[in-house]
Amino acid sequence: MTEKLSGEVLDSVKRNYEEITETLLRAAGSPDKVTLLAATKTVEPAVINYAISLGLRHIGENRVQELLSKYDDYDLAHCDLQFIGHLQTNKVRQIIGKVSMIQSVDSVKLAKEIHAQSQKQGLITDILLEVNIGREENKSGVLTEQLDELLETVSAMPHLRVRGLMTIPPLCVESGQNRKFFEKMYQLFIDISGKTLDNVSMDYLSMGMSDDYEEAVKCGANMVRIGSRLFGRRIYR
Ligand SMILES: *Cc1c(COP(=O)(O)O)cnc(C)c1O
Repeated sequence: MTEKLSGEVLDSVKRNYEEITETLLRAAGSPDKVTLLAATKTVEPAVINYAISLGLRHIGENRVQELLSKYDDYDLAHCDLQFIGHLQTNKVRQIIGKVSMIQSVDSVKLAKEIHAQSQKQGLITDILLEVNIGREENKSGVLTEQLDELLETVSAMPHLRVRGLMTIPPLCVESGQNRKFFEKMYQLFIDISGKTLDNVSMDYLSMGMSDDYEEAVKCGANMVRIGSRLFGRRIYR
């Protein structure tokens, strides 16, 4: 495997990593204000581990199967692993205890299953609630008017801890168009921060990807999820 890792690929990951961290620093004003999570779908563990050697501390996968097949090869001594994709209830059991946070909780049913599996293993699982801020059909995430109910339900589940919110805004053709969605998310984040709910703390606002992470941070994101800007264009096999 290492043979295939050309110096060219690694050099570009290094350059990209430096560019991203500099951009984040500029947008946020201080290095510890924003958490960089690398979206690692389709990326082979050797490349991921190289990025970890550069200082990357958080990675996220979005398919259970892929996560499990790469699991033994990640350098998890130096990095934490999260789940960021759409999660089917019947696959929850396979990742509980393996991931430090599940960013994509968008229904009571899914929350209940994560809670049940965490309870079985004697764990408390950190989650983010995913919001469908653009109100798109066929997109994951709860609608804003469903958020309070989900929060209240989850608040009563001692093996879950809500750490914040996550969103994937609509694909916008022109840059800058996502600002209004980012701003709405920030407002929700602030509103919920002002409430006192058991097992709920608004630590993370996870929004911003390769094409819009700078804008997201300027609107209040404190976690960005970046894939192609770091690793290059994805090659699906
Ligand atoms: C792939 C992915 C990303 C990163 O996408 P890029 O545009 O490649 O940066 C972020 N979040 C989720 C949930 C993803 O699946």
